[in-house]
Amino acid sequence: MSAAEFDLIDRIRTRVRERDDVVLGIGDDAALLQVPPGMQLVVTADTLNAGVHFPEATAPADIGWKSLAVNLSDLAAMGAMPAWCTLSLSMPEADASWVDAFLDGFLELADQHALALVGGDTTRGPLSISVTAMGLLETGSALRRDGARVGDDVWVTGTLGDAAAALEVLLAGREPSPFLRKRLDRPTPRVAAGRRLSGLAHSCIDLSDGLLADLAHVCERSGVGAEINLTSLPGSDALAALDPAQYWRWQASGGDDYELCFSASPRNRELVMQALDFAEVPATRIGRIVAGQGVKGFDAKGGEWQPVQSGYQHFP
Ligand code: ADP
Ligand code: MG
Repeated sequence: MSAAEFDLIDRIRTRVRERDDVVLGIGDDAALLQVPPGMQLVVTADTLNAGVHFPEATAPADIGWKSLAVNLSDLAAMGAMPAWCTLSLSMPEADASWVDAFLDGFLELADQHALALVGGDTTRGPLSISVTAMGLLETGSALRRDGARVGDDVWVTGTLGDAAAALEVLLAGREPSPFLRKRLDRPTPRVAAGRRLSGLAHSCIDLSDGLLADLAHVCERSGVGAEINLTSLPGSDALAALDPAQYWRWQASGGDDYELCFSASPRNRELVMQALDFAEVPATRIGRIVAGQGVKGFDAKGGEWQPVQSGYQHFP
């Protein structure tokens, strides 16, 4: 290991929080973690590449936040409690001030969830950040994609389309409103909502590629279809200030929302509202699970809406 690499890892090591269940953290060949009895380990990984997953000009602290947020969003969608993570950094040069700023955002979010950074890798190459996040849940209580049932309500948390609209404004060379910019750069993983929904929701997914595309994954895995009322999709005031002709494209097919989309029995509507109230996350009923396959979006007159593209694709 070079002196520069050692220095970078040391900067990281001195800033990480401790947890009782981390038997051995950064500094050995591998981390040693204690899973409590009766709990299952939930593991997810996501990579963010410069220019693909965030605009090159994104602030390092925002890149740090987002690279962890997208992983915590996956844990949230399983109903898991975040516990540990690893961080693999590839960067063009050993830039200590960049790493410090990156950690400001990364650790701010990690601390909010009492998450410990327990290891990783540091290499030279194009800017790329890979995070593996690990969480815990009571054995058998995971929220899965394959549990949606015909007749279920379909719900989403928060508002949709903010990040997609922000990205489009940015790519057009303009500056989005601070609210929209924050929704793109610093998504809020819905961890508390996922915890509250476990045992209540029949299926759950987090929205990273766009509502229609992600809900289609749930439908496929569950062997059902879904019908969405586009007029009921929750939108922010900031989105409402933009071109109304684009709403549905942003809300139904835009990526990077990191909200939860879940299905639950109509009998449990009150319980769902209460659960999300406790989690302090707004929730909106947007449609239902039907027999058949595929996801259909309907306008106010009951006509079917044809999206230009249902979601973001890396290899179109
Ligand atoms: P090895 O050669 O055994 O892979 P490294 O030199 O890559 O060891 O890493 C030394 C220690 O520092 C390990 O515990 C590793 O997990 C940790 N580490 C390396 N890079 C990072 C990073 N970016 N974030 C957190 N921990 C890291
Ligand atoms: Mg290594």
